[in-house]
Amino acid sequence: MPPSSTQQKASSIAQDPRWQLVLQRSTAADGHFVYAVRTTGIYCRASCPSRLPKPENVVFFADGHTARAAGFRPCLRCTPDQASPQQRQADLITQACQHISVLDGAPSLQVLASEAGMSPYHFHRLFKKTTGLTPRAYAMAIRHQKLQQKLATANSITDAIYDAGYQSSSSFYAESTQRLGMTPRNFRAGGSQVSIRFAIAPCSLGAILVAQSQLGICAILLGDDPAILLQQLQDQFPKADLQGDEQAFEQQMAAVIALIDNPRLGLELPLDIRGTAFQQRVWQALRDIPPGQTMSYAELAAKIGQPSAVRAVARACAANTLAVAIPCHRVIRQNGELSGYRWGLARKQALLKREENN
Ligand SMILES: [Zn+2]
Repeated sequence: MPPSSTQQKASSIAQDPRWQLVLQRSTAADGHFVYAVRTTGIYCRASCPSRLPKPENVVFFADGHTARAAGFRPCLRCTPDQASPQQRQADLITQACQHISVLDGAPSLQVLASEAGMSPYHFHRLFKKTTGLTPRAYAMAIRHQKLQQKLATANSITDAIYDAGYQSSSSFYAESTQRLGMTPRNFRAGGSQVSIRFAIAPCSLGAILVAQSQLGICAILLGDDPAILLQQLQDQFPKADLQGDEQAFEQQMAAVIALIDNPRLGLELPLDIRGTAFQQRVWQALRDIPPGQTMSYAELAAKIGQPSAVRAVARACAANTLAVAIPCHRVIRQNGELSGYRWGLARKQALLKREENN
């Protein structure tokens, strides 16, 4: 007996991949097609929560327009001609992100949620689900990004910090500390506590971080990204209590920036040089190389009385964390090539050129 026309219709719909999406109430299929039901005269999006029709009664259409042309009416429950709930939520979160990116201060969850027409709890959850970040973390990331852009052009670190939307420089440092997971940690050995203050500023070679312990300047780091400089400081002093303190630091910062601009000036500030005995000998020898002169690693090794320790000398130069104050940029290869530089070859080249010309 040949199959009935109803059975034929049912099996042809059942084999249609769109029917599988309807059975799954797929939200991913929203906007790609609609299905209409002959018995009710209504068409729906694939994700419509209404009771599923029998497959033999279903007709697929590319969109609501063609379904209406065939005489069907849109479902009032899933409103197939409007944006899907997921799309509407994504749009609301996109709007919230745009709002946050133009804010000066921290975003108010209450305000963002009410703009999106949601409860703060629901908004927070949806925001995190959509962006992977909480609204607060998102705002912090945006501000960090802005600060990095500003640092390259602003006249002072303070301008950059305020331009980037921080309320105060202390809130920047507090936030950076939090962002990098650098919770101040006490130095437990012997019950003593190492407290290190630091500040970051723009200089002619990019961003500069200067840090100071009770003993003296303990780090001068150069780079493009202030956040990475902070991370390096944290790596260098994992147990120290790090405190961002720009105001108390103005004079030291000015002295170090002057040194970067003109290495011949030298640095009058005391240095807190931490390293192995071998590193300290190498670094001391580096400080004896006058500005405008260079030395090879082999010459430096000979100078400290260990002519065979050329590679160890090179490693000690690379481990220097007091840029320019310990002038490791004055060491080059025997053949005159610049060799490496912890803070980038372009900076090494620029420093040597400055010394040459002065
Ligand atoms: Zn529907």
